[in-house]
Amino acid sequence: MSDNKTSSAQTTGINTQLAHSGHDPRSFHGFVNPPVVHASTVLFDSVASLRRRSTLAYTYGLRGTPTTTALENALNELEGSAGTILLPSGLAACTFPLLAFLGAGDHVLLVDSLYSPTRHFCDTVLKRMGVCVEYFAPDVGAGIADLMRGETKVVFLEAPGSNTFEMMDVAAVAAAAKSRGAVTMIDNTWATPIFFKPLDHGCDVSIHALTKYPGGHSDLMLGSVSATAEAYRRLRDTQMAIGVNAAPDDAYLVLRGLKTMGVRLRRHEESALRIAEWLEGRDEVAAVLHPALSSFPGHDLWRRQFCGSSGLFSFALRGGDAAVVRFLDALKLFGLGYSWGGHESLAIPVDLSDRRVAKGSPEGGLIRLQIGLEDVPDLLADLDRGFTAVAAS
Ligand SMILES: *Cc1c(COP(=O)(O)O)cnc(C)c1O
Repeated sequence: MSDNKTSSAQTTGINTQLAHSGHDPRSFHGFVNPPVVHASTVLFDSVASLRRRSTLAYTYGLRGTPTTTALENALNELEGSAGTILLPSGLAACTFPLLAFLGAGDHVLLVDSLYSPTRHFCDTVLKRMGVCVEYFAPDVGAGIADLMRGETKVVFLEAPGSNTFEMMDVAAVAAAAKSRGAVTMIDNTWATPIFFKPLDHGCDVSIHALTKYPGGHSDLMLGSVSATAEAYRRLRDTQMAIGVNAAPDDAYLVLRGLKTMGVRLRRHEESALRIAEWLEGRDEVAAVLHPALSSFPGHDLWRRQFCGSSGLFSFALRGGDAAVVRFLDALKLFGLGYSWGGHESLAIPVDLSDRRVAKGSPEGGLIRLQIGLEDVPDLLADLDRGFTAVAAS
């Protein structure tokens, strides 16, 4: 990444930045997009050059290619990070920094509203490694200081929380962690760097499931970890010690997705808000869990820290699990499936059985919606079909 690109990125709007980030056409014959480089071996000119390889840009496929570099650069420009590593899935991007920074005898604090598979990793692999794993309530704020111990090495956040969307005071937690020498990591997948830049709020590490909005079309799996210079060195060394990186075709698809992420996200945001407000007006709905609704308990925290909301939220349907099953089975347009951030709308029942404190709404069964790029009236008609099926039972 050339320096003048970084400075121009800071003075232009987000869509201009997305349109021009990552790849400089002058670096590759003027082609607008970077090459997709499939590679293992990289040939050296001479033994002298081989022995000086630490000074070369590329030395082996695992260590990176012009394609992965373009994506890392694009993410660094968006996150304001010193370095980014790529991993084969969003889950790997969550677990990898924990592996890189924790060892036997260390203590890690994680928010209770964590993405469930990340929690599973902590409760199994990290515990087996001899790491002490502790969860805290999303509303902990500066109170995190009381939970910190001498051996606390990492504080791990997610804002808003998975499925229940609790907001956190990110800067307050990061400041308390920093003052005790712990590294703050955050899963920033929901907001994308367009709506929230964690490093500006004191976090050391920002994690993304690129599978979601950056990819945007439900056709790839990839993750990223963007970090401060100090944290990046540790992440990069661990990445090369373990031997994992992104495949070129997937990296290319994310680079392509980033070009339209700004306009897609605005559409996801607008449609999701219209649908959330419509749901709020229905008698069958006990609560709508969407940070941009003024009725949501974390709304002020969201407004103070974030500059937009994406297309993923939940609502509590009166009538419990039986109603949830009838509702979901009646939908025709909303697909019943995991993941989100693609062009198509999805709905799933939410399982909070691994939660200790962040239980969402006590009334009714929770349904999570991913609002895609379809026309809102068609989505509302589909949801209406769900309510009709519940009423008919
Ligand atoms: C989907 C998701 C992940 C994992 O991403 P995958 O690419 O599906 O492995 C991590 N964190 C959050 C918040 C997610 O929603």
